[in-house]
Amino acid sequence: MDEPIRKIIHIDMDAFYASVEQRDNPSLRGKPVIVGGAPNSRGVVATCSYEARAYGIHSAMPSSAAYKRCPHAVFIKPDMEKYKRVSRQVMAIFRSCTDLVEPLSLDEAYLDVTNNKWGMTYATEIAKEIKRRIASELQLTASAGVSYNKFLAKVGSGYRKPNGLVVIPPSRAQQFIDRLPIGKFFGVGEVTEKKFLSLGIETGRQLRELSREELVQICGKKGLTLYENARGIDRRPVVPNRPRKSVGKETTLASDLYAIEDMLSVIESLCEKVSRTLTANDRAAQTITLKVKFSDFQQITRSMTVEEPIQEAEAMYAIARELMDKVQFEGRPVRLLGVYASKLRHIDELTKDAPQVVQLTLF
Ligand SMILES: [Mg+2]
Repeated sequence: MDEPIRKIIHIDMDAFYASVEQRDNPSLRGKPVIVGGAPNSRGVVATCSYEARAYGIHSAMPSSAAYKRCPHAVFIKPDMEKYKRVSRQVMAIFRSCTDLVEPLSLDEAYLDVTNNKWGMTYATEIAKEIKRRIASELQLTASAGVSYNKFLAKVGSGYRKPNGLVVIPPSRAQQFIDRLPIGKFFGVGEVTEKKFLSLGIETGRQLRELSREELVQICGKKGLTLYENARGIDRRPVVPNRPRKSVGKETTLASDLYAIEDMLSVIESLCEKVSRTLTANDRAAQTITLKVKFSDFQQITRSMTVEEPIQEAEAMYAIARELMDKVQFEGRPVRLLGVYASKLRHIDELTKDAPQVVQLTLF
């Protein structure tokens, strides 16, 4: 069965947090700006301006290391509320074109513009118009990748940053992929990249010489995705995030905690609170998220989704314990803990497929 060729755009704002700061404070323009932890903290670089990148500074680098490379850089504490506000404006521009917008973070999203509200035929023209509107309405720049699937659109947006526009039509896709360095493929992180390089596989063309079996042997299940991507195939749809309701409780600790046992007892009481709220609202949750903020303000979340929605504190706590095992504390003190329940379903909805949850509410 022949599927119609889709028109997918991936848009990624350039150095988003840093660009917003430079936009709002002209004295920062043209300067190396680092948004993230302070240089004398254990924080990391969240985003840095292109002027800072010239010094080899990049996201996720410890702020102290960034300071060593560029002591005259301007360090700015992230203002997430402001970035969220600007993000909503960016997403509103996307949604004026299509409802099929799938945000990946505050500053990037996939758009399926095969059918779009602007009535435009060419995806390239749409990408240009979106970039133009971001520039004129928000005084920011974005890079766009235009292609017929998510994989190629995303590779495209990262190909010529900043302010880039890369179009990969079906007729040029294979040639483009063949030349693509192995590290640019979806799912190939540093470790997998090293593995491929050690086997002499450096490009998409060489990747294409491997069978499915060989790829699975090298990197497990994602080898199957690589097999398809190397041939320009990626059928994943653009899925708009539905506004999700969630219930959560978090607490900033009176003093930093070091011992896992102490953290677990806090988490247990948070689970009880979340469970009470769920019960009071006749809701059960399928996803439990644990939030841990370290004393250096670095924050991580770990989530788990279960098949049967849960409501009771005990089940939630069992999941939270497992999630705690996935956190790398590395001896760092913790200042805040949180538990969130999402993918909520009304108890009445569950009678058909999960009677045991309803039963629990009877006790
Ligand atoms: Mg970005």
